[in-house]
Amino acid sequence: MHVSSKKERSIVTDKLHEKNFHPVFLSNNQIDTFYKGYCNSILWPLFHYFFSFMEYENNYWDSYKEVNQLFLSAAAQLIEPGDIVWVQDYHLMLLPKMLRTTVPSISIGYFHHVPFPSYDLFRVLPKRAELLHGLLGADLVGFHTFDYKSHFISTVERVLHLNFTNNYLQLEGRKMCAAYFPMGINYEKYHAAFEKAAVTNVHKAPSSNHEKSKTILSVDRLDYSKGIIHRVKAFGNFLKHHPEYRTKIALLMVIVPSRDNVYRYAYLKKEINEAISAINGAYSTRTWTPICYFYHSLSFEYLVTLYREADIALITPLCDGMNLVAKEYIAAKRNTPGVLILSEMAGASIELNEALLINPNDLQQIEQSIVEALSMPVEEQFRRLHVMQAIVKKQDIKKWAFDFLSTQQRIYLENKKN
Ligand code: UDP
Repeated sequence: MHVSSKKERSIVTDKLHEKNFHPVFLSNNQIDTFYKGYCNSILWPLFHYFFSFMEYENNYWDSYKEVNQLFLSAAAQLIEPGDIVWVQDYHLMLLPKMLRTTVPSISIGYFHHVPFPSYDLFRVLPKRAELLHGLLGADLVGFHTFDYKSHFISTVERVLHLNFTNNYLQLEGRKMCAAYFPMGINYEKYHAAFEKAAVTNVHKAPSSNHEKSKTILSVDRLDYSKGIIHRVKAFGNFLKHHPEYRTKIALLMVIVPSRDNVYRYAYLKKEINEAISAINGAYSTRTWTPICYFYHSLSFEYLVTLYREADIALITPLCDGMNLVAKEYIAAKRNTPGVLILSEMAGASIELNEALLINPNDLQQIEQSIVEALSMPVEEQFRRLHVMQAIVKKQDIKKWAFDFLSTQQRIYLENKKN
């Protein structure tokens, strides 16, 4: 949120205090150099294996340190010995160590919401050692998957020449741990939305204007890691090779605007517009448009209705830490069938292995999966949905937080004893 005047800051601060939140305000320059700069033009592309998209500017690193320091100052005013502090995500990788050296005797956890890349990639960062030392300040560092955790451990071992034993690292007088905790969703919220009047009153998906028409749904933030162009191309190929489905199927794409003042994102938006126009231009009829495209966010009610009614969810990231949309699609299903086509490059694919798993770089495989989904018997669709629902229900957001915090606290108490 952009808050510029002193008056606005004080209003926002008061409102947040009512909810026991404490804001940290960034200057315009910090938004440019820390957020758009170091976070979104260096760390984000690198962590998603888009190495060539990284853009270095000298002042980005100084700004990253400065903003981590700002969070430290804000937190230090509130924290007391014995408190539990949980740092979230790659914007604050230096904060665990800063907290450890400034505020004694607290329990510190850090969760990394994006992929942690392999050593070969991480080591290209000029400040790789500083970032890793920052994370090692935590008692517990958590990731979505076993692979990200393993990459972190091998990167620490090779960059810093330290050795983990069974996921634990012995540091001066204490131990820290790296572990994985697949993040979940509020399952009941999505599953129960079915019964709410507001949801049932929403119109049917706009593409379903043909009685027997099928809807393929995709929902993502605008991001080059989401494989949006791959998906559009694969759908275009599907229409080309399967004329019998023309006018009977529509791809409904919801793209939530994101970072479009960063050059790469603005360029991607243009590419998406062109790719969609090419397909709509080639195949549309007077009464049918193959791709229906929203470039704005939707209300929860509308989104859940789309999840519930879509015959297929087509989720094709080239690299994605978890992908919660896949889990939300599964949770929102009640008495309507549906097939999830999911990229094996999404963290969620490890739990959701009853989905039709695809490699998003293999456009032919995406096309074949659409055909397979369209011909899958309804009983088989429900069987797969029920298996995945049990998993998403069990591993929900509460369990994720509980598992992480209880592990963090256990390590803190063991360190205190020794
Ligand atoms: N989402 C939203 N508004 C929308 C469409 C999606 O808030 O109009 C939410 C969606 O419900 C999901 C999140 O955005 O919880 C996207 O999370 P995901 O893990 O799939 O991807 P990320 O954007 O974190 O990379």
